[in-house]
Parts: sequence; structure tokens; C-alpha cells
Amino acid sequence: MEFLETLYNEVIGFLGISQALEILRSGDYSTFTTYDGIVSLIYPIIPLLLILELILGFIYKKPQAKVYKVNFLIYIFNRFVGRFIAIAMVALCIGLFQQYAPFQTTMTWYWFIYGYIVWELGHFVYHYLGHKVRLFWCLHSTHHAPEDMNLSVTHAHFFLEAPYADTIRTTVCILLGVQPEMLFLIMFIDGTYGAFIHIGENILKNGRLGFLNKIILTPSHHRVHHAKNPLYMDTNFCNLLNIWDKVFKTYQEEQHHIQIEYGITREMDSGNFLDVYFGEIVALAKDVWNAPGIGNKFRYLLMPPGWNHTGNHKTAKVARSAYLESAKAN
Ligand SMILES: [Zn+2]
Ligand SMILES: [Zn+2]
Repeated sequence: MEFLETLYNEVIGFLGISQALEILRSGDYSTFTTYDGIVSLIYPIIPLLLILELILGFIYKKPQAKVYKVNFLIYIFNRFVGRFIAIAMVALCIGLFQQYAPFQTTMTWYWFIYGYIVWELGHFVYHYLGHKVRLFWCLHSTHHAPEDMNLSVTHAHFFLEAPYADTIRTTVCILLGVQPEMLFLIMFIDGTYGAFIHIGENILKNGRLGFLNKIILTPSHHRVHHAKNPLYMDTNFCNLLNIWDKVFKTYQEEQHHIQIEYGITREMDSGNFLDVYFGEIVALAKDVWNAPGIGNKFRYLLMPPGWNHTGNHKTAKVARSAYLESAKAN
């Protein structure tokens, strides 16, 4: 019976409905109009959409089962290992760095906008490094392994990625004066929206969200980010406000004539948990081992994925330049 109870609690936890159930049980429905009440209603949206998407997948007979299976395994694995380390890192960064902030923001709408722009900067830094430093790519590549886009990809992360991401994002925010309460509010919005942008074509065929595509980062932009097409690789690093992609020139819109190919360029088995989770680490270890000289060994750790000590680089930058050259010639 204890096992069934644990299973029940896990399912309720995954669906994000424990808070809402508590309010329903208490009988005090007015709680739904408070901040906590509203949050309790927003939490279940993404998990419920994920299930709807899965059902639609069965109806349309799209071969996504592999992606869901591996991402489910990753969810279970991270559920027990990764989350606690990330929470500890956030608390640690706040405690360490808050004293060095030149000023402190308050809970007002204009500081909220400021806080969100700062958060996006932290997100850009973490995400950019996750793509451009091979050691960090080992943490991030699990998220890019799926060859299909759907809401289960939201859960595809290496367990050390959340602590690494939250350390950078929290540090940037706290040093720039974002108060912790504001930070947690932004984290909640960012987490929910960051999950939503992985919505699959079964539910949302066109991910551009109309005119919003011009203003914010939409599922369409994030589909581009997950693509391995030469024009698309290493673009759109932001999450909701894509100002930093525009500032740092990594902004890329979806092109009608280019069919998105999801996944990473390495030969891999995206249905194999071990390959999705540890494949990049094994590949990096091999390159470091085989590299001549200590300098080259270090360069493999720090240079972008695809860098080669022989000078025959296969980085995203090289692929994109070659594509743009050939497009110009045609
Ligand atoms: Zn990425
Ligand atoms: Zn993603």
C-alpha cells in the first residue's frame, strides 16, 4: 500500500495539482483568487498539455514514442537527483552575492521588467556557454538529443544542468540587485513559458503565435533553436524576451522553405537513455584522450563542439558560414 501511496504522490506531483487539490479540500475557494491560488492553477497546464499531446500523437500515429520514453526515464532520474542540488545552489548564490549588489529592487512593475531583462541576460549567458564551451555542451546536449519536438523535451535535461544554469542566472540577477522574491516570481514565469515553447506540432502546427513572433520568443523560435540545419544551429538562446539574441546577433526566424530537422549532428541513438545522457561526455573523453599535448587536451574542453586540433573544424559557425556562402552563390 505504501508503494501505491508513493506512486499516487508522484503522479500528483508530476501533474502539478497538489496545491489545487489542497485548496479544493479546504473548501475555501476564494484562495483561487490569491497569488498562490493562481499559481496552483497554472502549474497543471503544461503537464496536462503534455498528456493531450501524447494522446494526439497516438491518434495521428506520429512515431514519437521513442522521445517520450527516453524523456520519461530522464524525468524520473532527475526527479530524485538533480532538483535538490539546483535549489541548494540558488540559496547559496543568494546568500553569497546579495551583499555585493549596488542597489536592491522592490516589488514594482518597472523593477519587474528590469528584473526580467536581467534574468534573460543570465539565461543568455548560461545557454550560450552551454552551446559554445564543449564541457558545458556535455550538460546541455541531453536537451537537444530528441529528434522530435513535444512537451516531454521540457524534461530532457542532464541532472547537473539545472544547478549549472541556476548558478549563473541567480548570480547575474542577485549581483544586479534583483530581490529574491522577484527572482522566484520570474523563475516561475520563465519555467512555465520555457516549458510551453516546446509544444509540438500536434497541438500547435504554426508556432509563430501571430504578431507575437515579432515581439517575443515563440515556440517557432525555439523549434529553430532545436534544429540541426546549418542555418539554425546555435541561434535563439533566449527564453521569453529575445532582446539579447537581437543584441548579440544570434536571432534567427523560421524560414518557410527550410524543413526543421531536430536533434544533434553527432551519430547517436536517441532512443537509448545512456547515449542521450552520457554520449557527449564519452565523445569528449575520447577526444581529450587522443589529443596530442596538454594544450590541445584543454582546448577540447573549452572550445566549441566540433573544434578539432588539426584545424578541420566542424563547428556550428563553420557550418552556418558555408551554408550562407552557398546560398549566396546560388
Ligand atoms: Zn540549447
Ligand atoms: Zn528547448
